[in-house]
Amino acid sequence: MHNHTLKQLSSLLHSKQLSATELAQHYLARITSSTLNAFTHVEPDLTLQQAALADQRLASGDTTALTGIPIAHKDIFVTRNWRSTAGSRMLENYVSPFDATVVEHFNAAGMVTLGKLNCDEFAMGSSNENSYFGPVKNPWDLRAIPGGSSGGSAAAIAARLTPAATGTDTGGSIRQPAAFCGVTGIKPTYGSVSRYGMIAFASSLDQGGPIAQNAEDCGLLLNAMIGFDPKDSTSVERAKEDFNRDLSKSLNGLRIGVPREFFGAGLAADVEVAVRAALADYEKLGAILVDISLPKTELSIPVYYVIAPAEASSNLERFDGVRYGHRAADYKDLADMYKKTRAEGFGEEVKRRILVGSYVLSHGYYDAYYLQAQKIRRLIAQDFQTAFTQCDVIMGPVAPTVAWDLGDKSDDPVANYLADIYTLSTSLAGLPGMSIPCGFGQGEKNARRPVGLQLIGNYFSEAKLLNVAHQYQLATDWHQKTPE
Ligand code: GLN
Repeated sequence: MHNHTLKQLSSLLHSKQLSATELAQHYLARITSSTLNAFTHVEPDLTLQQAALADQRLASGDTTALTGIPIAHKDIFVTRNWRSTAGSRMLENYVSPFDATVVEHFNAAGMVTLGKLNCDEFAMGSSNENSYFGPVKNPWDLRAIPGGSSGGSAAAIAARLTPAATGTDTGGSIRQPAAFCGVTGIKPTYGSVSRYGMIAFASSLDQGGPIAQNAEDCGLLLNAMIGFDPKDSTSVERAKEDFNRDLSKSLNGLRIGVPREFFGAGLAADVEVAVRAALADYEKLGAILVDISLPKTELSIPVYYVIAPAEASSNLERFDGVRYGHRAADYKDLADMYKKTRAEGFGEEVKRRILVGSYVLSHGYYDAYYLQAQKIRRLIAQDFQTAFTQCDVIMGPVAPTVAWDLGDKSDDPVANYLADIYTLSTSLAGLPGMSIPCGFGQGEKNARRPVGLQLIGNYFSEAKLLNVAHQYQLATDWHQKTPE
């Protein structure tokens, strides 16, 4: 049952061969027996209440395609009943008085929340080792990281602990864990998915999106997830679309841009082999490969690691021991309370980013770092627009290597940052990006560690990306492989 896609589950629920309650119980049992640490928080009574409501809706016929289907939310989306921790000690026992807009949308569709998914603290990380609740394990190889920051989401899909999950992507956090866990994820165009109730990391980059088994499921989830939200000042107002409307379109004549800079030194040979094989498969489907250049790819690392910490340092000011979450027990005066609360509540990587962010925003350094970074950010976005005059979609690897071992880079932040090289530019430009499974690494260790193919489209081309991904998934079965 847990290998079913959302479409299959939906038809079983609608034809009454399966109840939402049975389905929720099935997944809750799998979560309870899992040792991956993918969830921070489950609340079975609440899940079963939602399932009972879904069963009533299924009986009355007042349904959507998603009614009765379980979903789990990255613990960065606030939920009224489940705790919302952002993977931080600061919010260890925090319960939000409202649901994030995304959660509201899925609740309204009749989906059943299974719980909250582990993630790097405030979504800062690439390996899920920065969570206060401990690292998540990669279901393909328990020695490996699942990727981050949405590592719990990707691991839970791969291990079939939930058929649908939310994630967020600021610099790659949907695409990279999806790649490392062999599942499918899409980060939509910036502004498409409401950020209201998504605990903020870097607001000009943060974007929610779905992770699931395949492109079609991601499209079903996007249909519920995307929509204008007056509560988010950067929410884009656009007509409702069916993101799966073009799934069956032929790829004949599709121009795929292959950026030279994504295949240079630093790309592991085994990842390159898998990605090139996928590109060859696309040629068989009628696509044409076009050599393109994204010359500022390398600059995306310093630019992102100035802008993201700058915004983070500002966003995280609100955790002061007064308004939310943790407060130090012992303090002399107000200033001491702030200091101790933040010293105790935040982990190392979060503190590092607050320091870097405060520095680059400070008087005297603003022009040298933050302003420069913003200018280069614009040039990075322009490079993509030049590329899209030559091609319809861009493809390349998601990450330079397969998942590394737990602990391998945990005391080397720069090594983590460098591994984001292929995902950051898309985020800086605000473009939609996707990861689909396209094979495995090589050699004794990597042979069971998945490789992801990255698809990047122009603004609001989600339906095209899903079409391009779906056609590949009709022709290949990488997305159907599951860990033992
Ligand atoms: N790995 C990147 C970082 O650490 C991206 C994280 C994300 O997308 N949330 O900031």
